[in-house]
Amino acid sequence: MEFNIKEYIRDIQDFPKKGVGFKDITPLLNDHQATVQTVKALKTLLGDQKIDRVVGMESRGFFFGTLLAAELGVGFIPVRKPGKLPFDKISEEYALEYGTDILEMHADAIKPGERILIHDDVLATGGTAEAVCKLVERLGGEIVQLNFLMELSFLHGRDRLKNYEVKSLVSY
Ligand code: 5GP
Repeated sequence: MEFNIKEYIRDIQDFPKKGVGFKDITPLLNDHQATVQTVKALKTLLGDQKIDRVVGMESRGFFFGTLLAAELGVGFIPVRKPGKLPFDKISEEYALEYGTDILEMHADAIKPGERILIHDDVLATGGTAEAVCKLVERLGGEIVQLNFLMELSFLHGRDRLKNYEVKSLVSY
C-alpha cells in the first residue's frame, strides 16, 4: 500500500491560539514505519543532488532534519531561538504576524562553498525559512534545496523563497 503521510498528520483547531488550525506531526513521530518512510521520501525530494550538511530549525525541524542528515551521511546544523546556542553565533531578525523574532546559528557551522539542504516541518508564510536562508548565505553556504514535510499553500510561503528550490511532501 502506498504511504500517505497525511494519515499521520493531525489537525488541531484553535492551537496555539483561537482561529488557528495547527498541523500536529506527533502521530507521525509516534509511528516507526511512517517515520522511516518519511525520511526516505525526503531523500527522494533531493534526488541525486549532492549536499554537505542539513540545516534544521527549532524545534520541529530537528526531528526529520537530523534523521535525514544521518540517512544522507552528512552533518546536521541546528538553528535556534535566541540564547540557546553556547558558542559564537550569528543572528537574523525576522517579522512575525505581531512583532519580530530572532534565529541564531553557530558562526563556525558552515564553511564557504558548502552545499546546504534546509529542512523544516511546515512552510507557512515563509518568514522562518527566509531568515534561515540569510543565516546560511551569510556564512557562505550554497542553498541547494529547502524541503518541508508540508506546505500551507494558502499562505504563499513560496513567494518569499523564489530564488530557491522549494519542495514539500504534501500541500494543504
Ligand atoms: P512561517 O515562518 O513559514 O510562517 O512558519 C513556519 C514555522 O512555524 C515552522 O518552523 C513551523 O514549525 C511552524 N508552524 C507554523 N504553522 C504550523 C503548523 O500548523 N504545524 C506545525 N507543526 N508547525 C507550524
